Amino acid sequence: MSNAPQALESYLSGAWRRGDGTETELVDPVLGNVLATASARGLDLKAALDYARKAGGPALRALSFVERAKLIGAVADVLVANRAKYEAMAIANSGNTKIDAAIDIDGGIGTLKYYARLGGSLGGATFLLDEKPVRLAKAENFQAIHLLAPRHGVAVHINAFNFPSWGLWEKAAVSLLAGVPVFAKPASSTALLTHEMVRDVIAAKVLPDGALNLLCGSAGDLLDQVTGDDVIAFTGSSETAGRILKHPNVLARGVHVNIEADSVNAALLGPDASQAAFDAFIKEVSREMTVKAGQKCTAIRRVFAPAAQADAVAEALLVRLKKTTLGDPRNESTRMGPVVTRAQQAAAFDGIGKIAREAQVLTGGATAPAIDGIDPAKSAFVAPTLMRLADGNSANAVHDTEVFGPAATIIPYKNETEAFALVARGGGSLVASVYGDDRAFFARAVAELGPSHGRLLMVEPSIADAHTGHGIVMPQCHHGGPGRAGNGEELGGLHGLRLYHQRLAVQGSTDLLTDLQAKAFALH
Ligand code: NAP
Repeated sequence: MSNAPQALESYLSGAWRRGDGTETELVDPVLGNVLATASARGLDLKAALDYARKAGGPALRALSFVERAKLIGAVADVLVANRAKYEAMAIANSGNTKIDAAIDIDGGIGTLKYYARLGGSLGGATFLLDEKPVRLAKAENFQAIHLLAPRHGVAVHINAFNFPSWGLWEKAAVSLLAGVPVFAKPASSTALLTHEMVRDVIAAKVLPDGALNLLCGSAGDLLDQVTGDDVIAFTGSSETAGRILKHPNVLARGVHVNIEADSVNAALLGPDASQAAFDAFIKEVSREMTVKAGQKCTAIRRVFAPAAQADAVAEALLVRLKKTTLGDPRNESTRMGPVVTRAQQAAAFDGIGKIAREAQVLTGGATAPAIDGIDPAKSAFVAPTLMRLADGNSANAVHDTEVFGPAATIIPYKNETEAFALVARGGGSLVASVYGDDRAFFARAVAELGPSHGRLLMVEPSIADAHTGHGIVMPQCHHGGPGRAGNGEELGGLHGLRLYHQRLAVQGSTDLLTDLQAKAFALH
């Protein structure tokens, strides 16, 4: 990679275009140097959305699911062929270690491959059939079916900074399979990797014109240009989500919006857990705190332990966290890199400060750690920070504050009822994991925690080494949480396709409906 800052371009209306000036500098969070710049100033987003609707939409909808699945597989092949250079970009722009980069890059490629395989099993269909036909009148010849028809607009994908690859492809895979063109807007601060991947896919000419579009830079008037045919799939902070939901044009046109926002995810050690369950809990909490320097929307923020075991949990976590070597991820010995920008570092320190007013800081804290050879005035490091509450009931900040960095808080609980009530104070989260050995306890946890979560990971010792992880989003499984997490629904196999389809009842003669069903893949 050259040292000169590269001006990222956007791929709009079938050509690479550069915005005026610089809106955002993309900075190496270890060294502090500018890697690239982004700007969307002056770009014609109305024309770009029209182009995607008119060129990309019809071209994708003319294809069957199997044919679209082949395109998705071809995108994955392009990315696999170019993978080596992506890792260096993730390290430089996001401060990723190689493991962090693999979660993002291979997570994106893996999701594309999953949807290519899934789409390959849907045959020559172009619609989805949602339910079995129902008779509506005395006459047997008059019935209704429920179809899912691909929307005629654009899938506007507004993504967060923490997954420039996975965030792009987990959304794109699903909308391409649904037959809806992608208009991707990565977070500006880490757009380098997204830009390079899209450049490679466009250069390989594996997708129809207008099927994949990219906006590098700020959103500008994007939300003024969307119509009721489009879908917005947003991932990011609750604050920005609120702005999108209240946008006058989005409201006036009834634009469908899916929100994947922040959450204060929990890990819960059950009462009377065995040593094996305890060990699995400690391993997962420490891994979740440090992978990607805690910058995963799914990362564990609240660590619930029976009061009698809170000391043991703190000791065991401290032992593991002390082994987490901070530093430049280009060094082999580094286990955790910085957060992505100095603004994110400041936000993490602010959150730690809020929680620490009600908690004891056991390690780390709200100041830049001293690291050999690293300039604290230029870098964006946050030390792994473990805090502990004396009583979860009397504290508030821990249940409301998402520290988007390597920080978590131990919350002791007196009994199961209190534990479930405290977890629910998160106000809706993406995921909780529960550790123990007692099946009856797990069943009660599903009933009590289920309604405030999008996913539950239940860890018995038998799956301690087999499970995919608290924070890893699997394309087979539902992703999205209620309440403050945004009420979003992504992935979950075929379920994810619903976002990009209109569900409709078609009423008519049995013969006509039989013909239509032949063009549809039955979901049930
Ligand atoms: P953010 O500041 O809300 O930004 C997210 C995206 O929204 C960026 O692309 C940003 O563009 C764009 N944006 C900002 N203002 C906008 C506006 N007025 N109209 C349209 N788009 C706008 O979030 P972030 O700091 O990148 O991401 C961190 C947050 O994302 C955390 O809270 C985390 O929990 C959440 N997250 C959630 C999930 C999930 O799946 N639930 C996954 C990952 C992250 P610019 O960068 O150009 O400003």
